[in-house]
Formats: sequence, C-alpha cells, structure tokens
Amino acid sequence: MFIVLFGPPGSGKGTQAHRLVRHLRIPHLSTGEMLRDAKRQGSALGLTAASFMDHGRLVPDDLVVGVVSERLSSPDCQGGCLFDGFPRTVEQARLLDDELARRQSQVGLVINLCVETTELERRMRDRQKNEHRVDDTPETIRRRMRVFHAQTAPVLSYYETRQLVVSIDGQGGMDAVYERICAAVEQQRGSAPVN
Ligand code: AMP
Repeated sequence: MFIVLFGPPGSGKGTQAHRLVRHLRIPHLSTGEMLRDAKRQGSALGLTAASFMDHGRLVPDDLVVGVVSERLSSPDCQGGCLFDGFPRTVEQARLLDDELARRQSQVGLVINLCVETTELERRMRDRQKNEHRVDDTPETIRRRMRVFHAQTAPVLSYYETRQLVVSIDGQGGMDAVYERICAAVEQQRGSAPVN
C-alpha cells in the first residue's frame, strides 16, 4: 500500500515513519532525507535544493517530484511505500497521482498527525538543540510553519475529498502515537494486527 504520512514540521513524522516501515517492510520515502543526502553529495540537485531548504522554503515541485519518480521506479517500491514529508503542495499530490496511475496504483491511506502549535514549537526547539539542523533556527522554524499552513495544509483537503485521511492524535508518548497509527493502518488493510 502507498501511505502518506502527513503533518506539520515537528509532528513526529520521521520518528514514526522509521518504526512503521520496519514493521510493514516497505521503503521509506522521506523527501527531506533524500534532499539532504543530495546536498551532502554536492550534486547539482543537492545544491539547488539546499538554497531553498536552508531558508525554510519548499524546493520546487518539479525537482522534488523528479527525485520521487526516480525512487518509485526501483523494484522495492512496486508493492508500496511510506511517503514522509511528501507531497507538500497540491501540485505534488496531483503529480504523485499521475506517477502512481502510470504504475496502475494509487495512494491508499493518508495519516494526518495532529499536534498543537505550542507542542510543535517546543519539539522544534528541542530538535534544534539535539540535531543542529541548519533549517531549525528560530527564524526558519517560523517560516516553515507559515509555509506549512499556506502551501501544505491544502494537500489534506485534496485527499479528504477522496476519504483517504485518518487523523491521529500525535501528542503523548511515542509508543502511544505509534499504536494509534498502527490501528489506522490495520483498519485500512483489514489484516492481522500490526505490532
Ligand atoms: P523535512 O525533513 O521533511 O522537514 O524537510 C526539510 C526541508 O526539505 C523542507 O523544509 C523543504 O525545504 C525540503 N523538502 C522536503 N520535502 C519537500 C517537498 N515534498 N517539497 C518541497 N520541499 C521539500
């Protein structure tokens, strides 16, 4: 199944995604991680992407979708994958639909991680101290939140019209959140319990 893990910066998408893909045995497609890798490798794409990422702006749709499309062509993605941090614009969501349709497939579930703003800000400040990401400075955190509300939040409405969204309370302990996510996946798959 192709699953989209959706949520604002600091909602815990990365942490939950790493655990979920291990269990579901599907690839983890984090566009943030893929773009950071490209930046580390110093490729032309990485350098262009960095000029947006480092300032808390979205990398242009065509670049991001190009990276995703290439990854989706790998044999390990044929049965599904978990998208983390993608799609981040309605245009990306449309282009993803096209990509998957070409592969006779479609998005099967969108998990919307809901976390209150004050909690998001606290988590981002903690991450800034612990991970030292260049895009976790107070100014870029504020911009990323603005970008999320302006450009990414509409993606949820796009999927809601197709009844693909399950909203999950993303607050509380990591284990409790993970259990809620697993219950949503389990319900969608109509299969054996996910541990
Ligand atoms: P993340 O690790 O998901 O928080 O992403 C870090 C940064 O990478 C974002 O703030 C954007 O600059 C860029 N990025 C990641 N995914 C996307 C995407 N789907 N579209 C545009 N930019 C992205």
